[in-house]
Amino acid sequence: MAQESTKRVNCLTCNKQLKRIKRYYRDGKYFCNKNCYKAFIKKQSQEAKEKA
Ligand SMILES: [Zn+2]
Repeated sequence: MAQESTKRVNCLTCNKQLKRIKRYYRDGKYFCNKNCYKAFIKKQSQEAKEKA
């Protein structure tokens, strides 16, 4: 049985599957575009504010 070793990565924000893994790779996370990256950062900082 041949197993596909292709790593599949989804965008953290919109959960869209990325065809090219090296797109918008930041801090060990993957995003399909800059917008999704910014949205994630925004969300993250908001959660940090709620905690404080
Ligand atoms: Zn996305």
